[in-house]
Amino acid sequence: MTTVTDKASTLTSTPIPNFIGGEWVAASGNDALDVMDPGTHEVLGQVPLSTVADVDAAVAAAREAFPAWRATPAAERVRVLFRLQALLKEHQDELARMLSREHGKNFKECHGEVQRGIENVEHACGIPSLMMGDTLEDVARGIDCETIRQPIGVFAGITPYNFPVMIPLWFWPYAVATGNTFVLKPSEQDPLTHQKIVELAREAGLPEGVLNVVHGDKTVSSALIEHPDVVGISFVGSSEIARIIYRDGAARGKRVQALGGAKNHMIVLPDADLELTADAIINSVYGSAGQRCLAGSQIVGVGEAYDQIRDRIVEGASTVRVGYGLDPDTFMGPVISAPHRERVEGYIEAGEKEGARVLIDGRGFKVDGYPKGNWVGPTVLEGVGPEQSVGREEIFGPVAGLTRAETVEDAIELMHRVEYGNATSIFTTSGRAAREFRYHAGISMIGINIGVAAPMAFFPFGGSRASFYGDLRAQGKDAIAFYTDQRVVMSRW
Ligand code: NAD
Repeated sequence: MTTVTDKASTLTSTPIPNFIGGEWVAASGNDALDVMDPGTHEVLGQVPLSTVADVDAAVAAAREAFPAWRATPAAERVRVLFRLQALLKEHQDELARMLSREHGKNFKECHGEVQRGIENVEHACGIPSLMMGDTLEDVARGIDCETIRQPIGVFAGITPYNFPVMIPLWFWPYAVATGNTFVLKPSEQDPLTHQKIVELAREAGLPEGVLNVVHGDKTVSSALIEHPDVVGISFVGSSEIARIIYRDGAARGKRVQALGGAKNHMIVLPDADLELTADAIINSVYGSAGQRCLAGSQIVGVGEAYDQIRDRIVEGASTVRVGYGLDPDTFMGPVISAPHRERVEGYIEAGEKEGARVLIDGRGFKVDGYPKGNWVGPTVLEGVGPEQSVGREEIFGPVAGLTRAETVEDAIELMHRVEYGNATSIFTTSGRAAREFRYHAGISMIGINIGVAAPMAFFPFGGSRASFYGDLRAQGKDAIAFYTDQRVVMSRW
């Protein structure tokens, strides 16, 4: 393996290097994919399709680094993260611009994503306290008992395209702060901005081998899952792949947290503040062009709320400003790729065939000055339920499906006929209705008068049902538990 450069050289290197044992090194194979600006189709760089040999080298580097890193005091380990936090703040605008170019979402959303990532680094800085165990004196006469949390070894992360900065930061800062070492496989669709973050981590003083990055596709994922020296996998992506990763990792006795897709229901009661509700739903459905696992997708108006919320959503959707992510007026950018645009348009077509009424049609959308962009306009479909693919499956695009339910119980039943269980929101001015909903929703992340119920770094993030495979979620206390093993020590002296 040859050393390409001592810098990440993002946006210029072709193809971008892997990061193994503290060095930027070329992937060993010859295959690579273009990383494209989804608004212009300009090629921003190339991502290598690394081989099993590259994975072996990265895991070996991580394994070699583990004993010394584990023995480094927790307070010293997190000093690197404190420095990384400062560097991320210093480079936040630059990172957000890079992210907007390779992902397509607007600058403000990108800035927010980097901020959410930084908050995870900040939370991981608390590891010396968060990782403490418990002690009880005299559990029996003259015998004391204590728990200690220990790191386990080499963890791997496999992450999606829709939050390429934040989602890797849900994982590796906690893994390394707790004393493990890590191999990351970022999404091959937009890996450039995180490349810069890894360079900042190196600048912050992360020792060689503690964090490694191997670019590529499912060959790299599979090699990580199958590698006997990888003790656990953190995965985020579609449910179909999450299921495979969970099955294959668990079959090898590894820890797995696999976060999957979503079909989030937004339920509007007649007593809701309709103006605030419509704003929150428009933001939820069309922000990031619907490519968020917390995006509202099915809008259920209860009783007389239905007509009113439908009219407001149609009005709001028709005023959404679609454009290039770095144009200051843009609210909604393109979707990630041309095949994804075709997929979203295919759902709109299928919905129409299955009986939905197209109130606003985003197919064939054009943006002046950007003829090649992967545009899908804001779309509103009425008469959409779980019996249709468009009401049951994850579209991951700017499409609102509207339906009416007579009661909140009926709305919950509709929601439960869909296999996903990531997030849901209720809009109401009744505390009692909100409490009842929280009690019966059976969905992991619940918004009450909030359209995107995204837990902050100190709370767990992850769904249930087909949206999550595993038991410990990302962020919060779950992250510390996932990356450590508890030992129980009984002592008599
Ligand atoms: P994806 O499943 O296509 O890819 C995710 C990762 O898995 C990528 O790194 C990809 O290279 C890898 N991969 C793809 N096929 C694989 C295979 N057969 N075996 C092993 N690895 C494979 O997902 P995506 O399109 O990048 O991201 C969008 C999806 O992620 C949506 O379904 C979205 O809901 C989900 N998501 C979920 C959450 C959450 O918190 N639950 C958060 C963000 C995104």
